[in-house]
Amino acid sequence: MSANEDLHRRRNAALTKGMSTMLPVYIERGRNAELWDADGRRYVDFAGGIAVVNTGHLHPHVKAAVIKQLDAFTHTCLMITPYRVAVELAEKLNALAPGTTPKKTMLVTTGAEAVENAVKIARAYTGRPAVIAFGGAFHGRTYMAMALTGKVAPYKVGFGPFPGDVYHVPFPVTYHGVTSADSLEALEQIFKYDVEPARVAAIIIEPVLGEGGFYAAPPEFMKALRSLCDKHGIVFIADEIQSGFARTGRMFAMEHYGVEPDLVTMAKSLAGGFPLAAVVGKAQMMDAAPTGGLGGTYAGSPVSCAAALAVLEVMEKENLPARAVQVGDIITQRLRKLQAQLSCIGEVRGLGAMVAMELVRNRDAHAPAPDPDLAKALVQRAAANGLVLLSCGLYANVIRLLVPLTAADELIGEGLDIIEKSLREVLAASTPVAAAG
Ligand code: PMP
Repeated sequence: MSANEDLHRRRNAALTKGMSTMLPVYIERGRNAELWDADGRRYVDFAGGIAVVNTGHLHPHVKAAVIKQLDAFTHTCLMITPYRVAVELAEKLNALAPGTTPKKTMLVTTGAEAVENAVKIARAYTGRPAVIAFGGAFHGRTYMAMALTGKVAPYKVGFGPFPGDVYHVPFPVTYHGVTSADSLEALEQIFKYDVEPARVAAIIIEPVLGEGGFYAAPPEFMKALRSLCDKHGIVFIADEIQSGFARTGRMFAMEHYGVEPDLVTMAKSLAGGFPLAAVVGKAQMMDAAPTGGLGGTYAGSPVSCAAALAVLEVMEKENLPARAVQVGDIITQRLRKLQAQLSCIGEVRGLGAMVAMELVRNRDAHAPAPDPDLAKALVQRAAANGLVLLSCGLYANVIRLLVPLTAADELIGEGLDIIEKSLREVLAASTPVAAAG
């Protein structure tokens, strides 16, 4: 029995089935965009721990900052005796957050917690209860975040009831026939059928749907949403947990839209692998919650804050937003070439290095038929060929690429070679013999 097999057997006996395992591959070591497993096999990492290591595994600058913090202290609780790294990080995030209105920050530990707190802040500020979210959105696995998530299986099945006063409208995905006008019309319908705008505290949107399939909201839609929020006094929350921190070619995806959100949720690549999340928003709103109403024992861990400060320095020094544009171009060009040869690739799209290819059974521009089985098979085959790859999508048929932005061109090329080889192998294996002959 190999070390991976042994660990997998023990994992299945010791860890809940409720947490899935995409690959029975047990990692021992990671450096930049490469991983090594318990049997010594090497992988190119196009998953980045689900968008967490935009600066790569164990970036030397981040590692040094963490070691320095470990030598000082690891925990006192930000609400009891605060510390410099949290203050410096908040100052930095306030300056980086999209828009010119003065900002304030709250620090927490996970993305779901950031989402929960953004809703708390919006409710405290407006004194209103309702929240509107989007179909296909993913906002986390705690109760409010789950309620806001716009996908039932597997996230919500069997877990209800959920907090009330949450409404969903379709996300504008032109590829699947939903235009910006359709989504705006659905919002008006909610105001007609379910809740008056004066009772709506917030609208929460991922500028680029992450788990939902890497669809970027159309610019005109974001502008219309901003106007609608202004008209009705609704708080605009941008969930940048997956799209943030240089991934899309800007520090935050909202910068592509020229629209200032009221609150932004951040996590994942903020601290390069250390658990840290934030809500950053307009100072006046951020101060609406009563003192003591927000917080958490581990909120803004000093180790994570030190890591985050180093991550932000790396992003600036290595100009990772600009690098994301280059990485996006390399990947998009290569996948488009493949799309010209293979009819199973319905669409290749991306904002910066947040790139995806959508796998379909047909290429009908009006009614593409998703192929989740092909996506699943490709992920497994790619792993067998030495690449960690993720799928996503409301229909589970999208392959998303989240390679660290610090990866060299050659390594990205190696990963793309594996995608092509693996896709061709999977297609060859699934082609009926008669058709092949
Ligand atoms: N929002 C978005 C957009 C996400 O992508 C995620 C995680 N995939 C979350 C919220 C939840 O973050 P966490 O898993 O850290 O709670």
